[in-house]
Amino acid sequence: TVAVVLFTSDLRLHDHPPLRAALRAADEVVPLFVLDPAVHHAGFDAPNRRAFLADCLADLDASLHRRGGRLVLRAGPVAREVGAVAAACGALEVHMAAGVTRFAHRREELLREELATRGVRLVAHDAVVTAVAPGAVVPTGSDHYAVFTPYFRRWSALRLRAPEAAPREVPVPEDVAGDPLPARGPGPGVSPGIPAGGESEGRRRLAAWVRGGLAAYEDRHDDLAGDATSRLSPYLHFGALSPVDVVQRARARGGPGAEAFVRQLCWRDFHHQVMAARPESSVRDYRTRDDDWHSEEAAEEIAAWKEGRTGYPVVDAAMRQLRYEGWMHNRARLLVASFLTKTLYVDWRVGARHFLDLLVDGDIVNNQLNWQWVAGTGTDTRPHRVLNPVVQGKRFDPQGTYVRRWVPELKGVVTRYIHEPWRLPPPERAQQAYPEPLIDLADGLARFKHARGRD
Ligand code: FAD
Repeated sequence: TVAVVLFTSDLRLHDHPPLRAALRAADEVVPLFVLDPAVHHAGFDAPNRRAFLADCLADLDASLHRRGGRLVLRAGPVAREVGAVAAACGALEVHMAAGVTRFAHRREELLREELATRGVRLVAHDAVVTAVAPGAVVPTGSDHYAVFTPYFRRWSALRLRAPEAAPREVPVPEDVAGDPLPARGPGPGVSPGIPAGGESEGRRRLAAWVRGGLAAYEDRHDDLAGDATSRLSPYLHFGALSPVDVVQRARARGGPGAEAFVRQLCWRDFHHQVMAARPESSVRDYRTRDDDWHSEEAAEEIAAWKEGRTGYPVVDAAMRQLRYEGWMHNRARLLVASFLTKTLYVDWRVGARHFLDLLVDGDIVNNQLNWQWVAGTGTDTRPHRVLNPVVQGKRFDPQGTYVRRWVPELKGVVTRYIHEPWRLPPPERAQQAYPEPLIDLADGLARFKHARGRD
């Protein structure tokens, strides 16, 4: 007998319940990935993620070869391709990870319909993409937690499975036709500094992180220049690492660093359970408001924000890091998002789109819901807080090292003025090829407060 395993956001062999289940159910399995044009049409692919995906698929294929198998890749609409593969190999079951977005639900629905016509059963497995499945804990009287802390309390008390090892052998039938894997390497629009993708690389980084950076995470994670976070987000986004595995490895290490890190991982599950219950929040405000954004009149401000020339050094540093590395520090994401949505008063969707165009970890769940959190339209319990980029810069980049790394025009500026170059004595200021502030922070704050009925 043969079973199909459809890989989606779970590009790994370790701790992979659908693969395990398929191997138990059948003598042979077809590990399948479908490059579906619908992902492109929905606006979800971007050069950086495409490059990382190509690495993930190549690594998955290599790992399968070591186990006597291979990855079958097909290009085309997912339901049609999976149906054709199931028919070609006479599979009776298709196993996959359950998804949480509208896109994933629709995909599952289409697959179920297509496979039903062929008498094939679709089995969707929970807790593959997240450590804890959405809906595993719910508050009384609601279908999801809207506040993080009580969710975290319940989430922390759950027992997670012990992560499963990768199977030793994956027997794949000979005669299933596939398309070539996508080409790897830098392509048009790919940022120069993106990391290598794939499960092997992710596992190397996870091991190094647990051994090295994790212990100091609690103290150092907000230090912009120190770069002391795990940078595991792209591997988690593509499922090259199992979230259950990452949580369990950190817990096994223990200590305050591990606790703080696991709390961050819980944010990922928290947002997934919000999105599963309110899938429309990928495009609409989670919390409704009645004022209008200022986006229409703000084309020039938006361009300056995207290009890192707002005149606020820490904002510009972060936006340039994003363009170069396809990644940005969480503290930096918070402050550039606050600057766009609260100081410039631009619709969070504009910022979320730009992030999705560049982030290697760009994720419809984490991105849209973090943007909403910052914009005050999401789950933040203090939606009116506004981050001041000068205060944030001084606090999280006190020596200006992060700013000097990404904004070379300010390399020579002394620390005292690094976050406020407009305060330099005029002769020195005249030497800086760096823009004046795009907006007066007090004006931005006044507009925001007025718009949200807070003045
Ligand atoms: P670490 O600090 O090492 O944290 C470990 C892991 O926990 C991360 O890899 C991530 O999977 C998870 N995590 C940490 N913080 C959050 C959070 N606030 N929400 C959800 N998960 C979290 N994360 C994405 O994975 N994809 C996105 O598209 C994304 N967009 C964001 C947009 C904005 C405006 C903001 C404020 C945050 C966004 N985040 C996003 C969350 C967070 O910034 C990144 O996950 C984190 O910076 C990744 O770096 P790291 O792996 O070194 O994180």
